Amino acid sequence: MTKSIKQEVLIQARDVDKVFENGCHALKNVSLDIHRGEVVVIIGPSGSGKSTFLRTLNQLETISSGRIEIDGVHLADKSTDINKLREEVGMVFQSFNLFPHKTALGNVMLAPLKVLKRDKAEVEQEAKDLLYRVGLHERMGHYPSRLSGGQQQRVAIARSLAMKPKALLFDEPTSALDPEMVGEVLDVMKGLAKEGMTMVVVTHEMGFAREVADRVVFMEEGELVLEESPERFFNSEHPRLQRFLGQVL
Ligand code: ADP
Ligand code: MG
Repeated sequence: MTKSIKQEVLIQARDVDKVFENGCHALKNVSLDIHRGEVVVIIGPSGSGKSTFLRTLNQLETISSGRIEIDGVHLADKSTDINKLREEVGMVFQSFNLFPHKTALGNVMLAPLKVLKRDKAEVEQEAKDLLYRVGLHERMGHYPSRLSGGQQQRVAIARSLAMKPKALLFDEPTSALDPEMVGEVLDVMKGLAKEGMTMVVVTHEMGFAREVADRVVFMEEGELVLEESPERFFNSEHPRLQRFLGQVL
C-alpha cells in the first residue's frame, strides 16, 4: 500500500483519565498520538475502555484529567466550539442509527443541510457521489428498513463522510453484522484508509488490523498496554496481549 502518513499529529491524547460518577475508572493515563492519514486499530477485551476512549476523542464523554487536542485545538479550552469539533471528527457506531423515515440519500444529506446549512443541489450531488463510493448508488432511494445491515452501515459511513471530517472514529463497526456482510463494510473502510483518511478503529477483526493498520493498540482495564506496528504487535510476546489473543484467535 503506497500511502504517506504525515508526521503531523492530528489527534493527541495525553494522560487521559476517566472516572465515571459510579467510581468506575474507565481510562487510566492513556496517551496516544494519531497522525494525519494514519489508521490506528484498538483491540482489547470487553470493558477495557475502548469505547470510552473513542467517545472522549469526540467529546461525547468528558475526561476527568489529562488533555486532548484535535488539530491543535485543545478540547477543554473555553473558547473551543465543541459542536464544530464534533463535525470535524466523525463517528461510526456498532448500531448504525440511521433515521428510519429518511432514504439512504436523505440520511447522507441531512447533516450538511441542517447543520452546515449548505446548498441543497450541491449537497445532493456530493451525497450521491458518496453513496457511489460505498457501493450503494443504486439503493439511494431505499429506506433503512429495506437495506441489509451491511448496507445500512455503509450508508452510515457515507453519512459521516458527508461532513468532510478530518478523522473518522469507528466503534466495532462490524460487530452487529451477520458474518457474510462484514467483508463489504471492511472493504469500504480499506478504501478510505487507502485514500488517506485518518481513522481510529475499535474492532475484533484481526485480519483488518494486520492488513490495514499503521499501528495497533492493545487496551486492558483502562490502560493502553501496548502500541506497535502490526508486524511487531502480532509477534509481540507481551503476556497480557498473549493472554487476550489466546482467547479471541
Ligand atoms: P469497551 O468499549 O472496551 O468494552 P467501555 O469503554 O464501554 O469498554 O467501558 C469501560 C468501563 O467503563 C467498563 O467497566 C464500563 O462498565 C464502564 N462504563 C462505560 N460507560 C459508563 C457509564 N456511562 N457510567 C459508568 N460506567 C461506565
Ligand atoms: Mg465498546
